[in-house]
Amino acid sequence: MKKNDIYRAKIENWGSNGEGICRIEGMAVFVRGAAKDDLCDIRILKVQKRHAFARVETIIQASPHRIENDCPYFDKCGGCAYRHISYEEELRLKQERVSDALKRIGGIDMPVEPVTPSPDIDGYRNKAIFQTANTRSAPVIGFYRRGSHDVIPIEHCALQCHLTNQVVGVIADFAAENNLEMYDETKHTGTLRHVFTRTSSEGQIQVCLVSATKHIDNIDKLTTRLVEEFPQISGIMLIHNEDVGNVALTGPITTLYGEQYLTDTLCGLTFRISPYSFFQINHAQTENLYSIALDFADLTGTGNVLDLYCGIGTITLNLAKKAKHVYGVEIIPEAIEDARMNAVFNEITNVDFICADAGEAAKEIVSSKTTIDLLTVDPPRKGLSSQTIEAILEIGPARIIYISCDPATLARDLGLLKEHYTVQHVQPVDMFPRTTHVETVVLLSQQKPNDRIEIDLDLDELDPTPAESKATYKEIKEYVRQNFNLKVSSLYISQVKRKYGLEVGENYNLSKSENQKTPQCPPDKEEAIKQALIYFQMITE
Ligand code: SAH
Repeated sequence: MKKNDIYRAKIENWGSNGEGICRIEGMAVFVRGAAKDDLCDIRILKVQKRHAFARVETIIQASPHRIENDCPYFDKCGGCAYRHISYEEELRLKQERVSDALKRIGGIDMPVEPVTPSPDIDGYRNKAIFQTANTRSAPVIGFYRRGSHDVIPIEHCALQCHLTNQVVGVIADFAAENNLEMYDETKHTGTLRHVFTRTSSEGQIQVCLVSATKHIDNIDKLTTRLVEEFPQISGIMLIHNEDVGNVALTGPITTLYGEQYLTDTLCGLTFRISPYSFFQINHAQTENLYSIALDFADLTGTGNVLDLYCGIGTITLNLAKKAKHVYGVEIIPEAIEDARMNAVFNEITNVDFICADAGEAAKEIVSSKTTIDLLTVDPPRKGLSSQTIEAILEIGPARIIYISCDPATLARDLGLLKEHYTVQHVQPVDMFPRTTHVETVVLLSQQKPNDRIEIDLDLDELDPTPAESKATYKEIKEYVRQNFNLKVSSLYISQVKRKYGLEVGENYNLSKSENQKTPQCPPDKEEAIKQALIYFQMITE
């Protein structure tokens, strides 16, 4: 097999980036533009040791999953992967991907629900970061070509809303008319690097011009023109990013017009969003995602909740409506400032927002001995750190809701939690139609030994300790809760009592049922129970 060879092939499977896979001469060949079950002639582009890359030359018999691609940039642009197949097949593929990852990576073999479809499959994105480049004829604005940093000029991106495309079109015209020198990432020369936009569900748009320089020539002219043409603009900012790296959104922000914050609503609450804060990109589907998470949370108004990776507090504040207290943790200071303001706007007072790394904050929660009944985590693609997993296990919430944007790291983390937590539901949600990305919401519940419930029942009556020197299990629990803010079970109390030579009665001496599954009282709880026994004069120091 060599470059430019043509083969007729039946496409047997999907690759992970939207390409088709066939086998030729024992090699796996990844065919761009092919769909599973296509019969087609393919042209080999590159041959490696064990696999090769090809593209479709002619379709002989189209796959039943095929649809007409309607985007002129689809072959080149790195954004979409599935514009050539039906949405039903895309959803099926995403469900399979989550299920395969859980099995292969996490060792969890269980049914995965069908993917919740997105209400819109085009025009759903509320956020865009456009790239810029200088071409021989003119400066351009667009997106990277797949697998490279060449910029393809884009006049209309199908995933973006109409307003975003229009606003960016005017900025591109302005750049061309003024022969603006765009930033060159190899030479570190020029000005405009990116155009970052965010729209609200109410139809407003925020525009950030990311420039390597503090000033862009004729910027006032551009601002005036944008504001005149688009009354929907809530603010125009200049972000001065002189870094040599690839991070787009960094550096001081200057407001050129209007407000620095965009305002949007989600599930009936109002949120302010700073340019550097995270906000879910598919508004209608985010309401579905959150309502699934809230259903899983099944809160009754009494429990404490810890929301790790909380962003501007969107999930936190929704949970707070039905919790005793919610702690939100987020690493970006601007997002935490937004979250605190959002609590004020929505008049929600039973929340605390902590600006810290999730793992560090979780460790703090362990040391503070705060009881957490429900934990929600919504980490970035890399998932949870081992420190975070360790702290979660120490906190030991009864239930965990894991919202993930990467099935592979989700599966890895569930694999690490599965000894202590059972996966109850796996619900994928399609936040990013036409791309390979898929979001998943998982409900986990803490495993309890079978014998625990019996033990917690009526131990007081059975306790043979003389009545005058006896505090009830209830009194001990109450003492521990008030003085140490810890919840302890009767099982733990009986374990500590036994340790200090107090009789606990044959019926719950537990020797028969104390198998490996019986939880052992952790040291902090043991100490708290010991203090209670001292307080009630059941033991001496
Ligand atoms: N739950 C929020 C945000 C989810 S995105 C929502 O639905 O809008 C993930 C968030 O985690 C981002 O806001 C990101 O800034 C934050 N983050 C990333 N790494 C973190 C870390 N190590 N500790 C805490 N937060 C982190």
